[in-house]
Amino acid sequence: MYFNAHCHLELSALGGRIPRGLSFPHWLESLVRTKRETTQDEIQEGIKRAINRMVDTGTSALADINSADIASGPLRTAVGDGILQVHLYHEILKFEEDKANEAVSEAMAKQHRDSQGVDMVEGLSPHSPYTTTGTLLRSAAKVATERHQWLCIHAAEIPEEREMLLHGRGALRDFLSPFLDPNWKPPGMGPIQWLDACGCLGPRTLLVHCNDINEEDVNLIRDRGASVVVCPGSHIWFGRDAFPLARLIAEGIPVYLGTDSLASNDDLDMGREIQLACELSPGVEEDTIRHLADFTRFRDFVPAP
Ligand SMILES: [Zn+2]
Repeated sequence: MYFNAHCHLELSALGGRIPRGLSFPHWLESLVRTKRETTQDEIQEGIKRAINRMVDTGTSALADINSADIASGPLRTAVGDGILQVHLYHEILKFEEDKANEAVSEAMAKQHRDSQGVDMVEGLSPHSPYTTTGTLLRSAAKVATERHQWLCIHAAEIPEEREMLLHGRGALRDFLSPFLDPNWKPPGMGPIQWLDACGCLGPRTLLVHCNDINEEDVNLIRDRGASVVVCPGSHIWFGRDAFPLARLIAEGIPVYLGTDSLASNDDLDMGREIQLACELSPGVEEDTIRHLADFTRFRDFVPAP
């Protein structure tokens, strides 16, 4: 039985509808456009199919990102039926500095609605260092700390993210230009350093991807006690080559495996993710990789009674 530590069930209907081989900014563009063209019925149908596929392939625990509040209903049912344990992170994505606190409050309001009567673990997911602001990140970190909840953040996925945050330029910056707050300035540091400066790195932080990390980043993640989820299928889907799994494990950083969504992966089968992780990291023992996806590791995220 497996724990899938990162998915976006709401994007399941996009499976097979986004072309491969796009650069990350073009992929984002295609994702937004295809999402807009997808009907509510298709989204609901995609979520149902995705949950069935996960359960059929041995996933019994899942961490999912709740953006539009569509998958939370079916997930609540799956938890109630005893077929899945769920950690639901409420996504916060806001470019405008003056709407940051409001965005965090909205995510908090969803929490009460989702957890009522069902034993589902909840947390917050400021989307990434490049789709949020310093105010938002600090506010989300504060709320999560007060509530002893986890933060899940996409971080250091591509080198263009570092380029944007360090120097305020590059392909990602150009793509996001129309959305950025008019007063946005690059923090002048890489994504991991920036998250740390905003109080977002701690023992209840789950960083998604971490493909583009240097020595200093690894040390910081380790010293703060943060965890990382790597997504082998998504990694291969984008044709990326660097995969620092062995380095993270060697430092004793808790690492998990996730599928990410069907918008950047061909399947939600965790057995396949284990195989792909083995192919990407031939220096790491298969048993070690299997353990990263073991369902018992879901307990790491469950608050003590
Ligand atoms: Zn993701």
